[in-house]
Amino acid sequence: MQVSEAWQQRLVSAREQRLAQKRWRSRRVNEGGMRDFAGNDYLGLAHDPRVQAAQSEGARRFGAGAGASHLVSGHLSVHEALEEALAEWTGRPRALLFSTGYMANLGVLQALADAQTAIFHDRLNHASLLDGATLSGARSRRYHHRDADDLTRLLARSERQYKLVVSDGVFSMDGDIADIHALAEVSHRHGAWLMIDDAHGLGVLGEKGHGCVGGFSSHDVPILVGTLGKALGTAGAFVAGDTALIEHITQFARSYVYTTAQPPSIAAATLKALTIVQHEPEHRQRLHRHIAYFRKQARALALPLGDSTTPIQPLLLGSEARTLAWATQLAQHGISVGAIRPPTVPNGEARLRITLSARHTRHDIDRLLEGLDVCQREEAP
Ligand SMILES: *Cc1c(COP(=O)(O)O)cnc(C)c1O
Repeated sequence: MQVSEAWQQRLVSAREQRLAQKRWRSRRVNEGGMRDFAGNDYLGLAHDPRVQAAQSEGARRFGAGAGASHLVSGHLSVHEALEEALAEWTGRPRALLFSTGYMANLGVLQALADAQTAIFHDRLNHASLLDGATLSGARSRRYHHRDADDLTRLLARSERQYKLVVSDGVFSMDGDIADIHALAEVSHRHGAWLMIDDAHGLGVLGEKGHGCVGGFSSHDVPILVGTLGKALGTAGAFVAGDTALIEHITQFARSYVYTTAQPPSIAAATLKALTIVQHEPEHRQRLHRHIAYFRKQARALALPLGDSTTPIQPLLLGSEARTLAWATQLAQHGISVGAIRPPTVPNGEARLRITLSARHTRHDIDRLLEGLDVCQREEAP
């Protein structure tokens, strides 16, 4: 009885604390009626009829589920074909599928790092990278955002035998891009391996959608993680690299070994999406025209734009109350944006996270800008 009361009390106090901070979050059912500037379907592939058809056909051919983990009997020919296509696309000898990006980052870091390892994170790395490092038992250090000099200083001071530098490619809440060249150079100089999570870059950046890692071989970026739920429009993730690395992860990543393989229909849909990414640059070009247009107009309205050339366009509002007020106001205009608050971003850095997609029309973007203009004017003194 007393134990159970203690538990109840624990939940109540955690809830009250979050409520007092106005950080208790709630879900809303997305009925599809709003203009969506919150999602990560940058190329519109989640709604491409060809990708949807490939998914249905995949379910018919291979089953609704894989039925087992990859190492038992769940590794199907469509998974194998997707891994080969991803390896070829990223210019790596091998790629290995995971069910989600979160699981990929947990698995890769847990399989590679241990108490003899030091992991060096950009301060703004995705939560899954921080959690993977914690799970591995490695010592974690965080360097200032995009600051290769600070990283150099930390690396020089480290006495751990194994050093691993980890960074998002495109930072998920800021939309800015890591300096892969500098990271690769500094890592080499200090005998560290470099891992880049290009969740928001793949499919979007570079002429052919190779992401911010395009042009960097596995010599420069030995460990490349990509996710499939963003520009590819489906779900899942992969790690790509040399054969020995991939075989090691296959053996030791617990989030790979002890879970059911991704549904084969998703792999079939992803194969189709990947073909579109490779052969139809027009979606990417349309997206980049949208980005340029939005930034130009937002600048004319003196909106507090971030320094981003990617589809992630944060508006840095600062206070949590202000961020919520703007998001609520926009929702009344039928526009959905992300209201991002601590602890997802540092204190005092609350923001609207606006994302653009090739699926938007110029008209959609004009409605968004109008809504933002109203928010700004209504709060003016
Ligand atoms: C979204 C994201 C992930 C997680 O990927 P999921 O497939 O959604 O689990 C990992 N890393 C980064 C940088 C992300 O933005």
